[in-house]
Amino acid sequence: MMEERSKNFIENEIDRDLKEGVYDTVKTRFPPEPNGYLHIGHAKSILLNYGIAKEYGGSFNLRFDDTNPTKERIEFVESIKEDVAWLGADWEDRLFFASDYFGQMYETARKLIQKGKAYVSDLSAEEIKEYRGTWNEPGKNDPNRDRSVEENLRLFEEMKEGKYQDGEKTLRAKIDMASPNMNMRDPVIYRVAHLSHHNTGDAWCIYPMYDYAHPMEDAIEGITHSLCTLEFEDHRPLYNWVVEEAEFAHPPRQIEFAKLFLRNVVTGKRYIKKLVEDGTVDGWDDPRLVSIAGLRRRGYTPDAIRKFVELAGISKSNATAEMDMLEYCVREDLKQKDKRVMAVLDPVKLIIDNYPEGKSEMLSAVNNPENEALGSREIEFGRELWIEREDFMEEPPKKYYRLYPGNEVRLMHAYFVTCVGFEKDGEGKITAVHCTYDPETKQGSGFEGRKVKGTIHWVKADTAVKVTARLYNNIVDEEKGVYNEEGEVNVNPDSLIVMDQCMIEPSVKDAEPYESFQFVRNGFFCVDAKDSRPGQPVFNRVVSLKSSYKLPSA
Ligand code: ATP
Ligand code: MG
Repeated sequence: MMEERSKNFIENEIDRDLKEGVYDTVKTRFPPEPNGYLHIGHAKSILLNYGIAKEYGGSFNLRFDDTNPTKERIEFVESIKEDVAWLGADWEDRLFFASDYFGQMYETARKLIQKGKAYVSDLSAEEIKEYRGTWNEPGKNDPNRDRSVEENLRLFEEMKEGKYQDGEKTLRAKIDMASPNMNMRDPVIYRVAHLSHHNTGDAWCIYPMYDYAHPMEDAIEGITHSLCTLEFEDHRPLYNWVVEEAEFAHPPRQIEFAKLFLRNVVTGKRYIKKLVEDGTVDGWDDPRLVSIAGLRRRGYTPDAIRKFVELAGISKSNATAEMDMLEYCVREDLKQKDKRVMAVLDPVKLIIDNYPEGKSEMLSAVNNPENEALGSREIEFGRELWIEREDFMEEPPKKYYRLYPGNEVRLMHAYFVTCVGFEKDGEGKITAVHCTYDPETKQGSGFEGRKVKGTIHWVKADTAVKVTARLYNNIVDEEKGVYNEEGEVNVNPDSLIVMDQCMIEPSVKDAEPYESFQFVRNGFFCVDAKDSRPGQPVFNRVVSLKSSYKLPSA
């Protein structure tokens, strides 16, 4: 498939750079800030950067952009590594931390001072903002803008040595206070912050700002193409200024692409964080979230996510993708890969009156007619079965082809049965359905005497294993939209449905975490990695079987 698609605009740019000899290799990176878990949007960036490096025989770095100690934690470093690896983006031995470059960034800042390209400012954050001007009016020069090189070097060193309080001094790049691009109006490149860092501890009390740190990190690693999202387009002149003034021999080039957005889905880190912290969801890996960890726990596969990112495409303008498309991708993938087994989510007893008591027989069932490699299995049949409560109706509407008094259906992989009666409790709830079977109609016997319209699934009552299955709806109340006026998520109160009386074939009970199955007629289900116990799996529904989604025509 990969060969057939036309190249995206980033590949076109890279082709040109290689042809013109701007670069003779391609080096990319994924630069997450370890301040939360990754989500489906990050998957796009990961797979894009990794894919480009592979395609051009270049290299791919995983680099933690850990320059802001307030929100960063080791827990997030570990989760991000796990997620990137799971997606198949192999960084080999190319794992880096921006904080390892603090020394070099400091030395380069001194060099900027020596070149007259940076100065220490005494202005407060407020004042810097005031001096910056607006879109229509130029900014005012910082009163400290013309400090001597010697004084700047001394003050910058004192900043580093802890002589100043947080916010008391900053280092600013000396560019142009009248620039039409606000980012170029002498941006702050270092701040004083007496904070412990997860990697460097208390070694530093000054930290570089993103717009200075990021181009430095790219340049130090020899990145050629720094792929980032559109909101950084206005920062590109500053990116270029930094790598040029720092005098790197082979400066990297920034290219922006559109973020991946999903309609009616929560992706913002701080919103997810809030749902986690107030207990609305069961951690960052709650299966209702589109965090990579949540999708993995739900039962998504890297292949499905790759397909989705490919379908969403790489472009220069923001567009919103539909959750339906993501679901389509995982359904298509699991349709081929998963065994199809029988599980009854909401059971009611089916008793076959003319099947001998105590008798049982083994029937053969193909595991996946679309994938022969998955083989077949034996399932046990007997007099008492569990069937889905909704597969029987006392008074059926038109076009109901399942069980009702007098109607005949096929029991999947087994026999035809005809409903001959039912039992109810005092409240009118059906407690058992009675039927008779026709021994002539055994599946695989070549019986062609008559046809039935309905086929229902079942499990043998005395050997079935009772488990819990969880069905999910969007965590967002779609009618209200993602966020309310206070900027909080509109939570759907029915996003989690717990079915704790499910009956499954015994063949499924020893499944491992992350193993998934198609429960025929009910959807794809994955063994939850957190809540399952040996022999007692808990299932998450990955996705239902049906969808109205159609692939966009090419
Ligand atoms: P924050 O909101 O905290 O800045 P972030 O999502 O931008 O979060 P980063 O860790 O800075 O998080 O992102 C790492 C990389 O992933 C960046 O290069 C960023 O541009 C990219 N990225 C983030 N969100 C998306 C998205 N929705 N689609 C594509 N790429 C994304
Ligand atoms: Mg960011």
